[in-house]
Amino acid sequence: MALNVDHYNRKITYLRVSVTDRCNLRCIYCMPVKDLKLLNHDDILRYEEIMRIIQAAVEAGISKVRLTGGEPLVRRNFTRLASSICAVPGIKDVSITTNGVLLAEKARKIYAAGIRRINVSLDTLDRKKYAAITRRDHFDDVWQGLQIAEEVGFSPIKLNVVAMRGINDDEILQFAELSVRKPYHVRFIEYMPIGHDNQWNPGKYISSDEIKSRLQSLGPLRKVPVLHSANDGPARRYRFDSAKGEIGFISALSNHFCPTCNRLRLTADGRLRPCLFADDEIDIKTPLRAGCSHEELKRLFWEAVERKPKQHHARFAEKGGCQRSMSAIGG
Ligand code: SAM
Ligand code: SF4
Repeated sequence: MALNVDHYNRKITYLRVSVTDRCNLRCIYCMPVKDLKLLNHDDILRYEEIMRIIQAAVEAGISKVRLTGGEPLVRRNFTRLASSICAVPGIKDVSITTNGVLLAEKARKIYAAGIRRINVSLDTLDRKKYAAITRRDHFDDVWQGLQIAEEVGFSPIKLNVVAMRGINDDEILQFAELSVRKPYHVRFIEYMPIGHDNQWNPGKYISSDEIKSRLQSLGPLRKVPVLHSANDGPARRYRFDSAKGEIGFISALSNHFCPTCNRLRLTADGRLRPCLFADDEIDIKTPLRAGCSHEELKRLFWEAVERKPKQHHARFAEKGGCQRSMSAIGG
């Protein structure tokens, strides 16, 4: 059996790389305002180190990379890293997840670096509510960033919307209408109890099924056939008739996507994380800085594959399990 196939017959081909734990927003579900613990600069992987890890990752079976964070676009010379990764033989797909605050300024350079697929997080279409959710006033910057990303030619443009009852669930239909007017893939993400200060509680959680049933007032929602072999993610995908875009559901709590999980995560401080929801991590930075061989880096990847759990244990109505926040893991 290939060494990138785990105990549950999942072929691990996808690496999410957190390039920084820093962020220019403070989303209520992700980062605390006070007592935020940030990594020391020396603990964050340098670009040369990320590239060595990616080269080993390719030989270990990885062919798809997503750059995330924290906010990837706040890291200096991000486009230099992006274009180096795009140029690695064997990497077939490089994408980013961003909050979009700096997108207007950086979209062209990112596209020129070779990235074509982009996920932008936007939980509300209301400027005031945006400031309340992110604790920063950048709605117009994100909106402008989206328009420029569209002009530049990114495709698809996915909008990540964390659905929170009593906070933004009154905008579900507006987001769905946006997927009709614009070529955006709107993805409703179930609010996850991740990190120790994420304000999650069962009252704020809203399931994908509930969102889907609310959308029925807009007309029939047709399933988009998904080719898992084509590196499709965990989203269940749908489309309204004559829509330019799509609707997706990422149902981490209500509908485990674990059986099709094909990913590992690399944290900004150089740890390989087999599962988003479990704090098991493999330190790859220490051996790398101690001068370990390429073969040893590959072996650490296969060890992470081997340590992937069958499924995560995050449950509805339960906090904990995972202590790092999404910004620190690389969501
Ligand atoms: N800063 C970038 C951004 O916001 O797109 C990339 C990193 S962020 C951690 C990646 C994704 O994780 C975002 O779409 C964000 O909405 C999502 N996320 C963070 N905390 C979450 C939580 N508690 N539940 C669900 N999604 C969460
Ligand atoms: Fe920053 Fe993204 Fe976390 Fe929001 S979700 S605080 S933008 S890392």
